[in-house]
Amino acid sequence: KDLSGNQYQLFSPEIESRTFEQIQLENDLFKALQKNDEFELYYQPKFDVRTEKLIGMESLIRWNHPRRGTIPPGQFIPLAEETGLITNLGEWVIREACQQMKKWVTSGHTELIVSANLSPQQFNQQNLVLTVSDILEETGLPAKHLELELTENLIIHNTEHTLKTIGQLKELGVQISIDDFGTGYSSLGYLKDFPVDTLKIDKSFINNVTTNRNNAAITKTIITLADSLQLNVIAEGVEEAAQATFLAEHGCHWIQGYYYSHPLQAETFEDHFLKSFIK
Ligand code: C2E
Ligand code: CA
Ligand code: CA
Ligand code: CA
Repeated sequence: KDLSGNQYQLFSPEIESRTFEQIQLENDLFKALQKNDEFELYYQPKFDVRTEKLIGMESLIRWNHPRRGTIPPGQFIPLAEETGLITNLGEWVIREACQQMKKWVTSGHTELIVSANLSPQQFNQQNLVLTVSDILEETGLPAKHLELELTENLIIHNTEHTLKTIGQLKELGVQISIDDFGTGYSSLGYLKDFPVDTLKIDKSFINNVTTNRNNAAITKTIITLADSLQLNVIAEGVEEAAQATFLAEHGCHWIQGYYYSHPLQAETFEDHFLKSFIK
């Protein structure tokens, strides 16, 4: 990319081997997308802070690589974005999440919402709305059970397309949340223009919310902001009881994090959180 003034880096063996590895991984990713049997969605539960009831789950992709083992999304989503493979991958994610959710709804969990993460490239593709509506129809999942998590930076850029797309997704009945909220370099003005449903407070604020006054202030401000704009607000990355207590005391609506559960495979998620229902 930006190698101006840095050309010598091209010849460092370290860079060379990393590039080779990247190319290899890119090849593997391409092949994996032909079969789609190496990807898996994990699910992390979300809870209502007051009632402590399960409200839904976030789907998070994993790649079960035949030689390298489980690869976390941080290591291949950026690659998928660079290569354009994200379109197919992202479509697989939405379809898989909807199929799974349809099963859970059918077995009686009619209050739950599954969320899927959308990368900027995916959001900006022309036929996203059509793809989502096709998948909903094909899987038979009512749209109200699907939420799409968009990042704040995506919303700020390319306003016209974004506004139109979010509007069309809302028309389908899909929920929209803003992920990593508070980390973008935005003015908050856009919030009044975009028909989003939920703000997700970034885990970097929650991480030390009980010890860092600034993060506590930001967290409280986001909760107040959500309330006054009549939006839902969820905190991610809750790892400790004290953080949960802080969020409860300050009126955060929903909560998610390792303190409650790591992301789990579908079957394990069912065993832990959905089994008390009669099927
Ligand atoms: P994200 O959407 O912000 O997801 C939250 C990340 O924090 C997840 O990492 C989750 O496992 C992790 N996490 C959950 N609770 C805690 C906690 O209490 N403490 C800490 N420290 N971390 C926690 P993961 O699964 O590795 O995903 C990383 C990122 O990769 C996601 O960040 C998202 O941006 C992206 N990603 C994951 N799945 C998908 C996908 O299906 N499509 C796209 N486009 N991106 C995805
Ligand atoms: Ca997310
Ligand atoms: Ca996040
Ligand atoms: Ca399975």
